[in-house]
Amino acid sequence: MMKCDKMKIVIVGAGFGGLSAGALLAKDGHDVILLEKNEQPGGRASVYTEKDFYFDMGPSWYLMPDVYEKFFAEFDKKPEDFFQLEKLDPSYRIYFGNEKIVDIASDLEKNFELFDTFEENGGEKLKEYLKESKELYDFSLNEMLYKDYRSILDFLNGKLLLKGYKLHIWENLEHYVGKKFESDEARKILEYAIGFLGGSPANTPSFYQLMSHVDLTMGVYYPQGGMRKVVQSIKELGETFGVEFHFNEPVEMLEIHDKKVKRVITNKAAYDADLVLMNADYAHSELELLNENYQTYDEKYWDSRVMAPSAMVAYLGVDYVVDKLDHHNLFLDKDWDQGFDVIFDPEKAAWPERPSYYVNVPSRTDLSAAPEGSDTLFILVPLAPGLEDTPELRDKFYNKIMDDLEMKLGENIRDHIVVKKVFALTDFKDRYNAYKGTALGLSHTMRQTALWRPAHLSKKVKNLYYSGQYTHPGIGVPMTLISSQIVAEEIKERHG
Ligand SMILES: Cc1cc2nc3c(=O)[nH]c(=O)nc-3n(C[C@H](O)[C@H](O)[C@H](O)COP(=O)(O)OP(=O)(O)OC[C@H]3O[C@@H](n4cnc5c(N)ncnc54)[C@H](O)[C@@H]3O)c2cc1C
Repeated sequence: MMKCDKMKIVIVGAGFGGLSAGALLAKDGHDVILLEKNEQPGGRASVYTEKDFYFDMGPSWYLMPDVYEKFFAEFDKKPEDFFQLEKLDPSYRIYFGNEKIVDIASDLEKNFELFDTFEENGGEKLKEYLKESKELYDFSLNEMLYKDYRSILDFLNGKLLLKGYKLHIWENLEHYVGKKFESDEARKILEYAIGFLGGSPANTPSFYQLMSHVDLTMGVYYPQGGMRKVVQSIKELGETFGVEFHFNEPVEMLEIHDKKVKRVITNKAAYDADLVLMNADYAHSELELLNENYQTYDEKYWDSRVMAPSAMVAYLGVDYVVDKLDHHNLFLDKDWDQGFDVIFDPEKAAWPERPSYYVNVPSRTDLSAAPEGSDTLFILVPLAPGLEDTPELRDKFYNKIMDDLEMKLGENIRDHIVVKKVFALTDFKDRYNAYKGTALGLSHTMRQTALWRPAHLSKKVKNLYYSGQYTHPGIGVPMTLISSQIVAEEIKERHG
C-alpha cells in the first residue's frame, strides 16, 4: 500500500462529483488539479444564459436538504452560508392527463386530505405508507448510503439482513404501490418519484419508496439564485483549500505504468499524478481514456447495463408570465405504462407517442431567473438512451410537446418565445461524453444498486478512483456528494 501524507491528485471532470471530491481532498491537505472539458463547472448542472434569462441546464429539484447539510458540515459550514433556501409551497403541481390538476402541498395534512379525495381511506393509507418510507429513508441514510460496498460481505452485514424483510428487495415499486393503493392518482404520485433516480416503477426495487419520504415529507426546496449557486459554493470551497481549476481542457488519455496512472494527458498538457479521480462518465473514462488491459468494465459490460434515460430539454424564455404554471409542474399521461416501455425496454425504444413530461419555472420563485414580466421555462421529456437523434425528429417532438402543453394551459406560448435552446441525446454525448447520451448514468435496478454499481476504486489500476452518479449511492446531486464523501474517506484510509 502506498503511504504518503500529501499527494498530487488529478481530478477529471468538474461536475458535482469532481467539485465535491476536489474540495474534500484539498481540505485533507492534498495538491488537487481539476481538469474539465467544458467552459464552466457543474457538469450536468451547467448554466445557460441568454438575454437575461438564466437556465439551470440540469438539476432543478433541491431534495434531501439533510445530505447537503452533512456535506457542508465537513467544512464547518452550512448551506445558508452560501445561498438562501426556500421551501416551496405547493411543492409541485400535477396535471393528470386532461382531467385533473392537483397541487401537492408542503403541509402533509393537506396531502392526506387530498388522498382522501382519490380513494376511500386514502389519507390514512398515505400516512401508513409514509411511515414506512421514513423508516427506510432513515435506515438507508444511517446504514447504507455513506458506506462503500466492496464485497458481498459488506452488503450482507447483520443490520442489513435483519432489516432485509422490510426492504422487499425482490419486489418492484409498481407492484408494491399497486397492493396498497387503488386509485390512479395515488399510484402515480407515489411512483413518479422514482424518476429522480432514473428508473421506472417496474424496474426499481420497492425499497426506493423512501423517495416519497423525500418529496412528500421532507419537502421540496429551492436555492435562491438557482442550482448554479450550489455549484459555485462548492467550487468556492475548493478554491479556499487551493484546488487549481483548468477549464476547456478535455482529458485524452491516462498513462499507466506498473498498474498505476502516472500522467494525465489533455489536449494542452500532461500532468504527473500520485492519484487520479475520475468524475467524467464512467463508461467514457474506461472505454475511451484507458487501454483495454486496464478497463475494469469493458464494452460488453456497458452494453448490458440498464442505462438511465436520456432526455430532450427545451429551455425557453417567454415574454409573459405563464401564471397557470407553478414552480414544478408534472404532466402525467393517462396511459403512462406505454411511456415507460418506450424509455426502458430496448426492444420498444422510440420517441414517445404520448409522453409524460415536466415543466420547471424557476422565475416563479426567483426574480433573478428572468427579466421582469417574463418567465424562464425548462421543459424536460425523458427519452430512451441510444435513440436516433436528428434535427427533424427533435423538431417534430418539440412541437408535439408544445401542442400538448398549449392545449392543457389553453394558451399560445410559442408566439411569446424570445429565447429557445433545445438539448437532447447527441448534446449529452457531445457536451458530457455521456454513454448512449444518457442524462443520468446508470438506472437503480436491484442489480445496479450498492455493491452492484461500478466500483469507486478501479480493480486494475491501483491509484484510480471514481466519483459521481454512476457509482454508489447513485443518481442525483445529493447522491453524488455522498459518493465523493465515500471516496475521500477511502483515500484517507488507503493512502494515509
Ligand atoms: C436534465 C437533468 C435534470 C436533473 N434534475 C435533477 C434534479 O432536479 N435534482 C437532482 O438532485 N439531480 C438532478 N439531475 C441529476 C444530477 O444532475 C446528476 O446526478 C449529477 O449532477 C451528476 O453529477 P456528476 O458529477 O456525476 O456528473 P457530471 O455532472 O456529468 O460531471 C462530469 C463532468 O466530467 C466532464 N468530462 C467528461 N469527459 C471529460 C474528459 N474527457 N475530460 C475532462 N472532463 C470531462 C463533463 O464535462 C462533466 O463536467 C438531473 C440531471 C439532468 C441531466
